[in-house]
Amino acid sequence: MKGKAACHDELRSFCESVPLVDCHDHSAAAGPKYTDPIAVVTSGYFHSDLLSASSEADMAVLGDASRSLQERWPVLERAWKRTCHTGYAQVTRRVLEHFYDENELTLAALERMSERLLDLSDETTFDRILEEANIAVRLENVQPDPRQVISGAARLAPRSRLVFPAPAYHRVTAHDAVQANVAPLGRRVTTLDEYVDALRELVSAYKAFGAVAIKDQSAYSRSLEYGNPTRAAAEEVFNWFMEDPRRSAAYPDGVRPLDDYLFHALMRIARDLDLPVQIHTGHMAGIRNDIVKTNAAGLTRLIELHRDVRFDLFHANWPYSGDILYLVKNYPNVTIDFCWANIIDPIYCRNLFKQALSAVPHGKVHGYGSDFGGSADRAWAHAQIARDNIAIALSDMVDLGWLGLDEAKEVSRAWLFDNANEFFGLGL
Ligand SMILES: [Zn+2]
Repeated sequence: MKGKAACHDELRSFCESVPLVDCHDHSAAAGPKYTDPIAVVTSGYFHSDLLSASSEADMAVLGDASRSLQERWPVLERAWKRTCHTGYAQVTRRVLEHFYDENELTLAALERMSERLLDLSDETTFDRILEEANIAVRLENVQPDPRQVISGAARLAPRSRLVFPAPAYHRVTAHDAVQANVAPLGRRVTTLDEYVDALRELVSAYKAFGAVAIKDQSAYSRSLEYGNPTRAAAEEVFNWFMEDPRRSAAYPDGVRPLDDYLFHALMRIARDLDLPVQIHTGHMAGIRNDIVKTNAAGLTRLIELHRDVRFDLFHANWPYSGDILYLVKNYPNVTIDFCWANIIDPIYCRNLFKQALSAVPHGKVHGYGSDFGGSADRAWAHAQIARDNIAIALSDMVDLGWLGLDEAKEVSRAWLFDNANEFFGLGL
């Protein structure tokens, strides 16, 4: 992808030289080891576009590696022809081109790929691709055994910094879940206060291990409009299921006062430990979910209350660009994070990068997050697309006379590296 501005090529080369802070990813370990060339095409988020363009039955055929390539190819070809121009497809195209020297998806290409499939479970290969992508560090939203985090023995994938995975700790609906959450601390709790105290101890242990943020993606299953319930309302739910381990409160509505209360408790912990809070907003992985509940605008009251908590709002709130611009402009404690968004909708991001430059402080923009699990090949392609988007957007703005080329380079560097390095206290 190329911009039309005169300075595009120079700015794009500059972006290539800037190391990346990968603000959000899910790689628990190096991987995968590909054994099926069709999986190279269909894995990752592109699976959702293919499904949206075909059917569950077709996707089951594509995922059945016991069937031959010849048998599956017509199914793949039909779906590919209907969705080969999306941002996700662009990731697949770039992976095929860069790692397999294939410019076109054909049966013959798949057969050639079979002979040289990447083994990303080899940590050296995995790390070499991250090096090639110039990804300096990655904030990993993974789930190591909390006992190993507490003891310091947890092992992460190359270049990783851990984030504390919040959802399971505030969406508790039953006695056993509560006790399982605190068991790694060697504790058993009986009251809401004891539970909140244990959460503080746990997050502190994650921070001591090196965690640099708290991450929450509850928008997949509930509205982001957190209420501000009383402690008594939360305690009522908590005490009800704690006194009888066979009880379970209905999620999300039946448990909402407790869920909301605990989320606020986590915000106080984040404030006291000076950990930024990363929140999933906008588009969700997979298909058939309800987008309305995930608009970042739903977080307004939470942001207003917790002014000493720094919120990093994810996925550029796709497709609600106006709302995220407003939040970032309006609240000193809100930043916009383009993780994943660069491939969900590259054109949205280019437009939004331009608007962000003209509407919000450029020091509050985090430009890249790969958001895959493993798949360093896709992270490489995603990094290319993010750099393309930023270079095209900013070179267009240079052409408009909005800023000079040197200033555009400074902004690119801030968006790809400096802002996140400072915001998350990475000390690079
Ligand atoms: Zn994610």
